[in-house]
Amino acid sequence: MEDIRIGLGFDSHEFEEGKEILLGGVRIDSPYGLRGHSDADALLHALTDALLGAVGEEDIGSLFKDTDPRWRGASSEIFLSEALRRVSSKGYRIINIDCVVIADRPKIAPYREKIRDNLSRLLGIGKERISVKGKRQEGFCRADGLACICSVLLAGKI
Ligand code: MG
Repeated sequence: MEDIRIGLGFDSHEFEEGKEILLGGVRIDSPYGLRGHSDADALLHALTDALLGAVGEEDIGSLFKDTDPRWRGASSEIFLSEALRRVSSKGYRIINIDCVVIADRPKIAPYREKIRDNLSRLLGIGKERISVKGKRQEGFCRADGLACICSVLLAGKI
């Protein structure tokens, strides 16, 4: 019998001059970047938290503390790969993921396919199982940053 798990992750980062924007591991052309201890990839952070949450693990901030010098400027692919390791070690696999990037700027649409391709590579699942979409903020949050929400569905044997 299959055990189905759902996970939800959220993350937000402020813009900062002189840095770059990475979303889903893809470099986004922008005059400003995202502030953060690691590479500030809000999409990978939200996705990592969704995977960890689905299997009842601690959240990303507890596992990879932003006071730990090991994670200063670190690639968020490290966090995602540890979450994936925990998911598969508990016998689960990803059925699909759905991600929303909430930002007035930069526009996400031109990067959507590139992000899906990269997530497909990082997660080892088909692109048809990955959705990424951009939404304008419309007053939801401050305009000097962006936010990401990701949900994941996992299946495993009971
Ligand atoms: Mg973050």
